[in-house]
Order: sequence, then structure tokens, then C-alpha cells
Amino acid sequence: MNRFHGKRAVVLGGAGFLGSHLCERLLADGASEVISVDNFITGDERNLAGLRMNKRFVSLHHDITEPFSFNGPVDFVFNMASPASPIDYAQLPIETLRVGSLGTENGLRLAQQKGAVFLQASTSEIYGDPLVHPQREDYWGNVNSVGPRSCYDEAKRYGEAIVAAYRRVHRVRTRIVRIFNTYGPRMRLNDGRVVPAFVGQALRGEDFTIFGDGSQTRSFCYVSDLIDGIVRLALSDVEEPVNIGNPREMTILQFAEAVREAMGGESRITFKPLPKDDPKQRQPDITRARTLLGWEPRVRLEDGLRETISYFRSVAERPSPTRQS
Ligand code: NAD
Ligand code: UDP
Repeated sequence: MNRFHGKRAVVLGGAGFLGSHLCERLLADGASEVISVDNFITGDERNLAGLRMNKRFVSLHHDITEPFSFNGPVDFVFNMASPASPIDYAQLPIETLRVGSLGTENGLRLAQQKGAVFLQASTSEIYGDPLVHPQREDYWGNVNSVGPRSCYDEAKRYGEAIVAAYRRVHRVRTRIVRIFNTYGPRMRLNDGRVVPAFVGQALRGEDFTIFGDGSQTRSFCYVSDLIDGIVRLALSDVEEPVNIGNPREMTILQFAEAVREAMGGESRITFKPLPKDDPKQRQPDITRARTLLGWEPRVRLEDGLRETISYFRSVAERPSPTRQS
């Protein structure tokens, strides 16, 4: 439990869905101080509510595309900062490209200055609409560089490239996690991703909106499993990218059925046009994570959905957070 004992960690994007869970985990694992740096562009103060009273936690309001530094040692820099839902990055394409490029480099500079480990939150989106299935880390991807998703996909690809360059040129100890669709409490009900979309629709008694014919696949990982993978990777010496995700693949139609079962509702389905460049299939090959990190997901979809639904029920009544969709 004390794996981060005496360590000081900086979490870029610490007020977001994944960043806030990571801050909590680092503190639970004994970190001497955790500093979140976030401009709240897609994050939410309320994600940090459980941390406010913790004397080892600091929240700074700062845009990481502007330079930043700290007095004293830093042992880990986790870069979780970026709009992440297709609706968010469609509304914020330039901010997404800037945080993925300038923001990532500012984080790398901090790690270089302090001799810290730098962990980059990359994504399965770097595989684009994949022609290889399931996706292994040695697949180079199929990305449209000028399509509606390119601001995110290419920012993340550039992010991996500059991380690799800082490792080669400045010998920064770097880690790259390629995160596959992750869900859980603290996603925004209105962020447009399929998990909050379907749960929100069921809560409001609306139809599920399925884009396309629903035959496209995704593989959903519960947040605690993902955070456990990130922690293991940070503490390892693995410098090549590692997929972290749940290999249980399903169609979006099957996922709608799973939400309907979990909520006991009667929601029907309305079909809407498939967004351009929406990947047709996605499933992580997690052999590398299993072999090098001894990691694999533990939380079943049914259990993770139950936790997530109960969170969304509790927030359904509160006013809409930072961004409107
Ligand atoms: P999120 O939007 O909840 O969190 C991102 C955080 O970054 C927000 O708090 C936001 O305010 C902050 N941020 C954005 N630009 C910033 C800037 N310029 N300066 C400071 N802070 C900034 O998204 P999330 O789902 O928690 O994703 C976290 C990271 O994980 C992202 O890098 C995302 O690309 C990656 N990721 C997430 C998933 C997923 O399924 N959740 C999948 C793949 C990759
Ligand atoms: N999706 C859907 N209805 C929605 C939201 C999303 O059918 O209301 C589909 C979307 O087209 C995609 C899948 O669900 O095929 C996952 O979408 P999400 O935005 O969660 O993540 P990503 O596309 O980045 O994997």
C-alpha cells in the first residue's frame, strides 16, 4: 500500500475523471504530496471534493500550455491533461492540439529538470480505425490526419513522439500508457461518451441514441483497473508503450442491452448517423501488460456499471458542470 511513500507527484489534468482517481490512489499509496495542475477546461472542482481536506494534496489552477515549475523535488509527473471525449475535442480542437503538444513538452521539461519519471496518458485512438484486431502495441495505426478526430489522435501521436524524443535526447525516464475506453464515477453526464450518454438517457426515460447500426465494437475498462495499471507502469522500468484496457469486446448494441439490464428500464433505441471516422472495432491486446506488469482487469462490466449508475443517479439532479454539450 505504501508504494509511493515519501514520493512527490505532479498530476497534470488532476481535476478530470481519470486524473482525480489517480490523485486519490497516489495519496492512498503514501505519496508525501500530490499536486494537481489543471485549467478546468473539461475538469470539475467537484471531482476533488474528497481531497480538499487532505493536507498532502494541492490543487493549482494553471493552463499547462504555459510554462510552470515547482520548488523542491518531484519524483513523478503524470500527464493526464487533455479533452478526451469526442464532443469535447470537437468543440476544443485547437486547445486539444496545444495541450497535447506544448502542454506535454512543458510536463517533460519539468520531469527533465527534476529527474522525475514522466508518464504520458496516450490512447487507443492512436490506432485510429484499426486494420489490425485486436490492437497490439506494435501496430502503427490507421489515422486520418485531417478528419474531425485528428486534433485528438494526432496530438496524442505527437505526444508519444515527443516523449520518445525526450527519452532519447535528455534521458528522461518515460512511460506511455495507451488507454482504451475507460468508464466509472466522475465521468460527466453530458460529455457525450457512450457510457454517460446511455446511462443518462435511461435515467431520463429517453431512447438510447445508437450511432450507425450499433455493430461497431468497444471494450470497456473500469476506472479502478485502469488506475491500477497506470500505477504499476509508473513503478516499472517499461519504456515502450503499454495498452491498458479490458479485452472484453462488445458491439454498441450489446452495450445498450447491458445498460438496459443493469438499470431495469424500458429504453428503446433510436438510430442516428455514425460520426465520420468512428472506429469500427477496438479491443486491446494486453499481453504486454500481463507479462511486463503482471496486470489484468478484475472488475466485471456488470459490477462496474452498477457503481457508475449509482454515481450518475446521485449527480443527475445537480447543476451541469464546467462544459455544456
Ligand atoms: P477529462 O476531460 O475528464 O480530464 C482531462 C483533464 O485535463 C481535465 O480536468 C481538464 O480540465 C484538464 N486539461 C485539459 N487541458 C488542460 C490544459 N491546457 N492545462 C491544464 N489542464 C488541462 O478526461 P479523462 O477521461 O479523465 O482523460 C484523462 C486523460 O486520459 C486524457 O489525456 C485522455 O486523452 C486520456 N484517455 C482517456 C480515456 C478514457 O476512456 N477516459 C481513453 C484514452 C485516453
Ligand atoms: N456512441 C453511440 N451513441 C452515443 C455515444 C456514442 O452509439 O450516444 C458510439 C460512438 O459512435 C462510438 C462508441 O459509441 O462508436 C463509443 O463512443 P465514445 O464517444 O464513448 O468513445 P470513442 O468513440 O472515443 O471510443
